Amino acid sequence: MPAETKLFLCLKDNYGVLLHDPESGATAAIDAPEAAPIEAALKDTGWTLSDILVTHHHHDHTGGIAELKKKHRCRVVAPHGEAGKIPLVDETVREGDTVKVGTLSAKVIETPGHTGGHITYWFQRDKLAFAGDTLFSIGCGRVIEGTPEMMWESLAKLRDLPGDTRVYCGHEYTLANIRFAQTVEPNNAALAARAAEATKQVAAGTPTIPTTIEEEKTANPFLRADVPAVAAAVGLSGKPPTEVFAEIRARKNRF
Ligand SMILES: [Zn+2]
Repeated sequence: MPAETKLFLCLKDNYGVLLHDPESGATAAIDAPEAAPIEAALKDTGWTLSDILVTHHHHDHTGGIAELKKKHRCRVVAPHGEAGKIPLVDETVREGDTVKVGTLSAKVIETPGHTGGHITYWFQRDKLAFAGDTLFSIGCGRVIEGTPEMMWESLAKLRDLPGDTRVYCGHEYTLANIRFAQTVEPNNAALAARAAEATKQVAAGTPTIPTTIEEEKTANPFLRADVPAVAAAVGLSGKPPTEVFAEIRARKNRF
């Protein structure tokens, strides 16, 4: 049976997501920004929390773990490289490991850059990826603990996933990301279409995620650092994609 998901806001602009396996009844929270909205989502759905899958150690992704674990005795899975910074970890995982949520199965993809040990959970059969603060819709996370080269490589790995993979990310930043992206690629038709769609979604009070890999490939400048027109747009024609990516990221930081 296909996985079910429930998306909801936490804190100011974080997303919480529940992933449910109807066959076994298992339910995972992807990150735990805050316990109360996760409890509310569990109550809404009638699902029982069995697992927390952590993408990275930042407090706005882990602040709810202690309270949830105390109540639900759920298993906490976390990236190997950051286990020491995350509370109550039961199991650490690395590149290529498999994580089961009931009968659902995820591959771990290491996507460092935002933090040193950040991981993405890819549920291949269900065409779902939980990318934390690595890939946002039309944006990417700030490069805090890694290097731009590292972040570009991580994003390139996500870009290689099947185009119809639905991507859940950690924050609702889409409209601000689009405003910046249009300064890099003002004539990108896919980006203009995404801008129109996201504007409508936000006006209607609905989330702009999940997005898809295909949509991001065509409209997200951070996945397009090896497209000649994007390099030209930031004055770096013929330069390596890592350099183009670093320039786009630096411009976004100043935007
Ligand atoms: Zn973060």
